[in-house]
Amino acid sequence: MSFGLYIHIPYCLSKCRYCDFYSLGGSRQVPDAYLDALIRAWNNFAVSDLCPAGGMPRPDTLYFGGGTPSLLSPAQVERLISFFSPAGDAEITLEANPETVNEDSLRGFRGAGVNRLSLGVQTARDDSLARLGRPHTAAQARSALRAARAAGFENISGDIMLALPKYTRAEFDETLELIAGEGASHISAYLLKIEPGTAFGRRPPEGLPDEDTAADLYLYAVERLAQEGFAQYEISNFARPGFEGKHNLLYWNCEDYLGLGPAAHSCVGNRRFFFPGDLHNFLAGPPHPIPDGECTAEDHILLQLRLASGLDLGELNTRYGVRFNQKQMHFLQRCQQAGYAQIDGDVVRLTPAGLIIQHSILCELLA
Ligand code: SF4
Repeated sequence: MSFGLYIHIPYCLSKCRYCDFYSLGGSRQVPDAYLDALIRAWNNFAVSDLCPAGGMPRPDTLYFGGGTPSLLSPAQVERLISFFSPAGDAEITLEANPETVNEDSLRGFRGAGVNRLSLGVQTARDDSLARLGRPHTAAQARSALRAARAAGFENISGDIMLALPKYTRAEFDETLELIAGEGASHISAYLLKIEPGTAFGRRPPEGLPDEDTAADLYLYAVERLAQEGFAQYEISNFARPGFEGKHNLLYWNCEDYLGLGPAAHSCVGNRRFFFPGDLHNFLAGPPHPIPDGECTAEDHILLQLRLASGLDLGELNTRYGVRFNQKQMHFLQRCQQAGYAQIDGDVVRLTPAGLIIQHSILCELLA
């Protein structure tokens, strides 16, 4: 069983209009007091009843997510990596926003031990970036990708948002050309979702594609990414061979992970828990994490069916003592006939057309 550590950095320069991640806009840097609180949270966990019996494992993956982790200085990243002491061959990822990095800072992050960079590019069109409230341009994203390569990063991921207002296949092609052309080895491509409580939730933008158009754009993206050598390994994730993100795979494969920071979630020894989304409280405490139940067979099915490798029914039975009944198997066979799933011995996989309606498939399968 692998162990992943997620460090949430809840600070951003400004708040993007679609974003419902827990973060504080208007921040230019991360206070050292926040690093102190992260370290206290780790130490508290190590002496709590949530800690594995053999003591704290060394993380196999370390992921700085946010928020905007590239607001940390290289010295702060070095302090955290040195404290959390990941395994020697650990994947260490830092999410970065293009406007916050340059070749010097990226060299600093690389020197501190970060070996994977995830860059929020989103789109190659400046008018779309401005509509989203992103504080950078496409030219800044291109420079950041170039700087990352010059600083020695070989494992670089770029984020793309699909189905933006007035979105076209041409906008996707330009974005793919920018990211792939600048040497990324991994791409995350997400459909824009309008979340309540965000600026877009309060006032949706004009020109949003309808559901069918969004689904067509997603299927087009999957096809184009495959043509460019990025194989789909999860609903929204695509990689050149050998560059799949190990940290996120650990979530989908139901392995142990600890999340530190406000609103960070964890699952250790099948027990789930999270820190409340309250930065002030986290800095002052941090508080005890809140229990959130156990990881169940349903969670396992849901997570495994996100992956191109699919759900192994034998493993489901071994791990949770659960088998699909005749009605469920019949439903999966109908999904196969309709082109939404493939059944290969004991393994069930959703096709790209099935992945986009995964929610409806799961509702019927688990009803
Ligand atoms: S930079 Fe990322 S975390 Fe920060 S507001 Fe924008 S989308 Fe949200």
